[in-house]
Amino acid sequence: MSDSRPLPLGEIPRWDAEHEVVVVGQGVAGGAAAIEAARAGADTVVLERMTRGGGATSLSTGITYFGAGTEIQRACGFEDSVEDMEDFVALAAGEQADPERIRLYCEGSLDHFQWFRDLGVEYKATFIEEKTTHPFTDDCLTYSGNEEAWPHSARARPVPRGHKPAREGEAGGYLMEAVLRGTLEAGASVVNECRAERLVVDGTRVVGVAARREREPFLVKASRGVVLATGGFVFNDEMLAKHAPHLIQCNYKVGTAGDDGSGINMGVAAGGEAINMSEGLVLNAYYPPASHLKGVLVDGQGQRFVNEDSYLGRTSDAILTKADGCAYLVVDDEIHGRTQAFHKLAAVEGSFEELEKALDLPTGSLVRTMTYYNEGAARGEDPLFHKAAKYLKPLVEPPFGALDCSTDASFFGVFTLGGLSVRATGEVLDAGGEPVPGLFAAGRCTAGLCREGRSYASGLSIGDGSFFGRLAGRAAARSEPWS
Ligand SMILES: Cc1cc2nc3c(=O)[nH]c(=O)nc-3n(C[C@H](O)[C@H](O)[C@H](O)COP(=O)(O)OP(=O)(O)OC[C@H]3O[C@@H](n4cnc5c(N)ncnc54)[C@H](O)[C@@H]3O)c2cc1C
Repeated sequence: MSDSRPLPLGEIPRWDAEHEVVVVGQGVAGGAAAIEAARAGADTVVLERMTRGGGATSLSTGITYFGAGTEIQRACGFEDSVEDMEDFVALAAGEQADPERIRLYCEGSLDHFQWFRDLGVEYKATFIEEKTTHPFTDDCLTYSGNEEAWPHSARARPVPRGHKPAREGEAGGYLMEAVLRGTLEAGASVVNECRAERLVVDGTRVVGVAARREREPFLVKASRGVVLATGGFVFNDEMLAKHAPHLIQCNYKVGTAGDDGSGINMGVAAGGEAINMSEGLVLNAYYPPASHLKGVLVDGQGQRFVNEDSYLGRTSDAILTKADGCAYLVVDDEIHGRTQAFHKLAAVEGSFEELEKALDLPTGSLVRTMTYYNEGAARGEDPLFHKAAKYLKPLVEPPFGALDCSTDASFFGVFTLGGLSVRATGEVLDAGGEPVPGLFAAGRCTAGLCREGRSYASGLSIGDGSFFGRLAGRAAARSEPWS
């Protein structure tokens, strides 16, 4: 791992560039921070290690979590309010979440939606009926988390809040192009192929960045503040092994090579604290097709362990933590379809007895599970996990198949949710809860809005990074100058 220790000011021979605010990383969080810092009047530069900004955001679907009654929600016939949104976001953010962040995020949601529209991002006033993970069309509004699934549905009024920009396929690149354009329009400058390696400190105060630009040292003074926005650490195997070893069994890293934890390590070395480091979002997409939500997910003992209609962050976490990584989705011919992750059928048999034997499950286990499930489904009930009635269908017509959703047989995506401890306004905090002077952070390199993969909703990463990136940029721009 590279040396992240801060460089004392005395060891700096000269500054190669001098700015008020230096933003490190140009994904959605860094982009938002740079736009707001520049709009607040600060001379702002963005250092980005790649030839072009975008980061993981530009690879993403672009779904962003907005609510409280956006124009799109209203046009699609959904009522929402700050309070309803807060009820749900508090659940989605998890027990360790920061209530202040939740409140600010929900209260500021309408304004934040408009911020993206003002950057030129278009959204179509259409609702996506079918539960999906990656909408392929240019339609917009979707239930992107556990809103309709128990137990969330019993604790917060279900409202769709995932907003996908009006582009077919993955729309993150389109959204990021608007942010990149907006950064230049706001007056910030961008230096590409420039990798930040260490922070520069005067005592405990962060005063600049020691970077490498096209392999040459590049020392940049930040008279007001540095904003770290470098993404997460899923591409750093050493950090994963140390902080989140259970995530190593996931076989697909969701992000870019930039997610190597560099910002987290620089921040910690300068006195910041890293928290929530064991948490990640795990993704095993056995739906779409939505018909698979009518299937029955069992573990290696033939037992159900979660309601199958939950958001995939919850079901995938349950496969890892409750089913020890071994799970099958039992389907019949009518509901079986091809998944985007190309799940394979572990077995197809004419009865549950035969299926149980083919999967090597304990004798009688699957038969009992399916008998009990089918009895409930026939009454429109799921007494164990309260799956929504629209997904309850007795599976009685053979043949029956078992889609292999095990960690060693199917596609498990993962990205990390831990990072620097920050105030909602972006100041990086030390272990005593005090700000590290001159240092700010936003996006996936922080422990942000959502602290738990099992409760996460799609759109909370882009929503969190952009919303709190904006606040971090503003806070850096108005922080006391160092000279
Ligand atoms: C396929 C896919 C689909 C997704 N879909 C969604 C979705 O629909 N909705 C949603 O909310 N989230 C989604 N996500 C997750 C989401 O995109 C990311 O978590 C989020 O965009 C991260 O934003 P960020 O600004 O923190 O990091 P990034 O967008 O990754 O930006 C970080 C930037 O920092 C740069 N960088 C890193 N280290 C350095 C350094 N030392 N010096 C200089 N530059 C550096 C990187 O090159 C990168 O450009 C998806 C992710 C993927 C990959």
